[in-house]
Amino acid sequence: MVSKEMYELGAKRSVIRELFEYGKQQAAVVGKENVFDFSLGNPTVPAPECVKDAILELLASSRSEEIHGYTSAQGDLEIRRGLADYMSNTFNCQLKAENFYMTCGAAASLSITLRALTESPQDEFIIIAPYFPEYQIFIRCAGAKVVVIPADTEKFQIQMSLLEKAITPNTKGIIINSPNNPSGVVYSEKTLKALADLLKKKSTEYQKPLYLISDEPYREIVYDNLQIPYVPAYYENTIICYSYSKSLSLPGERIGYILVADSVENAKDIYTAICGAGRSLGYVCAPSMFQKIVLKCLGKTSDIELYDANRKLLYNGLSKMGYQCVNPDGAFYLFVKSPEENAVNFSENAKKFNLLIVPGDDFGCPGYVRISYCVDPAMIKRSLDAFQKLINLYN
Ligand code: PLP
Repeated sequence: MVSKEMYELGAKRSVIRELFEYGKQQAAVVGKENVFDFSLGNPTVPAPECVKDAILELLASSRSEEIHGYTSAQGDLEIRRGLADYMSNTFNCQLKAENFYMTCGAAASLSITLRALTESPQDEFIIIAPYFPEYQIFIRCAGAKVVVIPADTEKFQIQMSLLEKAITPNTKGIIINSPNNPSGVVYSEKTLKALADLLKKKSTEYQKPLYLISDEPYREIVYDNLQIPYVPAYYENTIICYSYSKSLSLPGERIGYILVADSVENAKDIYTAICGAGRSLGYVCAPSMFQKIVLKCLGKTSDIELYDANRKLLYNGLSKMGYQCVNPDGAFYLFVKSPEENAVNFSENAKKFNLLIVPGDDFGCPGYVRISYCVDPAMIKRSLDAFQKLINLYN
């Protein structure tokens, strides 16, 4: 009657969504202010003023079909030109409009890229734990196999020796995500250099390009003046999957892009296959009005300082209580070691204090929980007592 694979996917419970729904039910029982929901990665810092200004200006000055009509399948030339200039100036590289394909957010960017690159069911894409759980789905739906590299739980960088062993003649690409969801870690320059060296070595050994897919929805959300690297400067065969969901707090507007620079091996064929994959997946013509809006907001972000304040509040508060976690350099997640081996139990115990935190199992990293701190700072302050009571259970 229906696709078994799709049915199972639709029926499978999402732990994050389930916690979120539980939180809403619990709020009706104990009061909204007594539920501490750290489950979702839905930005709470408002979109910057430039977004509202751009919307109002567009509505006032444009004809309906100019803002609500179809654009070219790969996106309006104007935004792609704007992006090419902006990225070229920011990262000191040479890009042109033809390198960009506008998409409906990072999920679409990734799905399209994976579909475009997959040639045979033997193709493998490597992901590095902890990873965004949807990668598993996107890779399988592209018709390829998933290979997981276990987490480096000391620094949450990449275990290069394990990666080296996992690369085979079937490897098509590797997905990285830095700043990382869920660890909050940013890959160091040392990691990027070692990764690039390894991929170059293996490409030569297997006489084929290995594509690095850099999933960058948190690119601008970094702290302590950290410099954001341009990954293709380290490794030319990099395809960037970007989204404005987090940097401009626009997750519901579904807008992002894929960047395939000319320096990527087979760039023209890949771009053409991206156009084909976009078409076959129904992701042509990204939201027209938001293509125009992001053009007017290039270089702007939501107020990262607000996330930074949350980060300090939570990291310092939890560390003092004895929780163990790496201090996040970016994104808006804290990845905390569960005081018991089974993080699912730990997350269940947290519910006793109305704390909603996500077990790391679905991120490929059991024994940890993700705390999403894109929340109201007042809720973090109110939650600290509950975190203390939770850890007291283990002391
Ligand atoms: N990649 C990562 C690492 C994410 O955390 C998310 C969303 O949370 C996505 C991709 C999907 O982002 P989008 O909303 O732009 O599709």
